[in-house]
Amino acid sequence: MRTSPASRDTTAAALAVEDLSVHYGGVCAVRSISFTVEPGASVGIIGANGAGKTSTLKALMGLVPRSGGRVTLGGHDLTRVRARDMVRHGIGYVPEGRHVFPGLSVEKNLLLGAYARRWDDKTRATLDEVHELFPVLREMSGRPAGALSGGQQQMLAIGRALMTGPRLLLLDEPSMGLSPKLVGFILDTLRRLREEGLSLLLVEQNAKLTFGATTHCLVMENGSVAITGTSEELGRDARVRQIYLGL
Ligand code: ATP
Repeated sequence: MRTSPASRDTTAAALAVEDLSVHYGGVCAVRSISFTVEPGASVGIIGANGAGKTSTLKALMGLVPRSGGRVTLGGHDLTRVRARDMVRHGIGYVPEGRHVFPGLSVEKNLLLGAYARRWDDKTRATLDEVHELFPVLREMSGRPAGALSGGQQQMLAIGRALMTGPRLLLLDEPSMGLSPKLVGFILDTLRRLREEGLSLLLVEQNAKLTFGATTHCLVMENGSVAITGTSEELGRDARVRQIYLGL
């Protein structure tokens, strides 16, 4: 396995989030939270339904307005960067529910991921890497994305985000609706990406995926960060397992 793909710049990926808040009208979904993702680290966000996990990722990407806070990546202030420009700064996003373009071919979905890049040797190398990670996407490249299974669509959503050439990948519930076998495959894939130096920020309900793929976790409760720790510690913590993961 290659440890550092030539097409991916993994330097200076540290994400710093300071006092991030999100309001929907009068509803406060995220209350002034702060955390960092160190270069090459993999951080999970867990918590009950409605805790503010998805809103945190969307606010990072600029997909919902932030009512306060600062976001920097590798020291660059991204607070005022528009959502469509975030990928140019090295943040890839895999949304909850995949959102592939069902009428377009698998190949076109992947190429859309590279919309902000020039079509050069580096981009071609990224496409080769995505095909190596997910061979089924090469085999089905001419098929409409809507004809893929749920698991294949999740691979396509991850592949499309990788085509942006990210230094940091945000993933929102990649295990949703997948069989245990496919969750295991996604876990192996995320571990492999982490070994290759990509930083990850993962929102998940699935404990196996969260604790297996991440080094550190935040537990969110009512829009705030209630507990932080290493994934190993939190995975053993009876209160976290019972209250937040229902195990
Ligand atoms: P889940 O695990 O169920 O996806 P979550 O932890 O991701 O939950 P969010 O989806 O971020 O939580 O929701 C946080 C709070 O914000 C909830 O109270 C939710 O009802 C509210 N909320 C989310 N999106 C909107 C919206 N577009 N308009 C109004 N309120 C919203």
